[in-house]
Amino acid sequence: MSPDRAHAGTLYVVATPIGDVGDISPRAVEILSSVEFVACEDTRSAGRLLSAVSASGAKLLSCFEHNEERRTAQILDLLERGADVALVSEAGTPTVSDPGYRLVSSCVAEGFRVSPIPGPCAAVAALSASGLPTDRFIFLGFPAKKGAKLDTFIAEAIAPARTSVCYLPARRVPSFLEKLAQRAGDAQVVIARELTKTYEEFLRGNPETLLQTLEGRTLRGECTLLVYVAPSSRRQRRAPSAEHRSS
Ligand code: SAM
Repeated sequence: MSPDRAHAGTLYVVATPIGDVGDISPRAVEILSSVEFVACEDTRSAGRLLSAVSASGAKLLSCFEHNEERRTAQILDLLERGADVALVSEAGTPTVSDPGYRLVSSCVAEGFRVSPIPGPCAAVAALSASGLPTDRFIFLGFPAKKGAKLDTFIAEAIAPARTSVCYLPARRVPSFLEKLAQRAGDAQVVIARELTKTYEEFLRGNPETLLQTLEGRTLRGECTLLVYVAPSSRRQRRAPSAEHRSS
């Protein structure tokens, strides 16, 4: 924080549950109860969350993709005047495939204090229970719907020796698995569905076995998909061994 911001307010970036409201942290509740303003994507759902955790005192400011620029100017002004503001998203950690990046980066650029209140994030929750390697991973967000951008996304997702984590609408899972099957049939894939909710489920396999598992089933709910390609299997696909070439 710059010295001339000593009396300014703080922007708290507050993670909220991705399903089970019990996952909200005591510190998140404390901050949400004490700030004057809560910037949120949707004032109705944020209002429901705040009343569920008995923290309804703050004024709600809608802040979503299409008004973020205008809202950022207003929030900078509130911080300047000494008010504390909490940023929440619909679920999980704000700014992770959710609005708020412009607000946070403007606060940082203007020298305001920005403080995270860590908590749920679907990507990290899925990774932690996936059983796939966690020593190297990459978060890829949402894939493009089609075309060259989707091809590039798949190429990144199957880069060997690291786990790729992506957010995927349930209806797109089968076509995404088909693409994976064509490009990396031996990939280990985990579909983490409805985490922390009643129908939480992990589906594990290679793209083909998962497609068989899903045959005749309409996948619903929130899905996070993880892919891991072992370094050796990639080498085998690219360059068949001398033994194979000669046979
Ligand atoms: N900022 C959020 C976070 O930290 O998790 C992510 C927001 S992004 C708009 C929403 C996507 O996250 C969903 O489409 C889904 O891919 C994933 N997601 C959210 N909740 C989930 C859950 N309970 N189980 C599995 N994936 C989830």
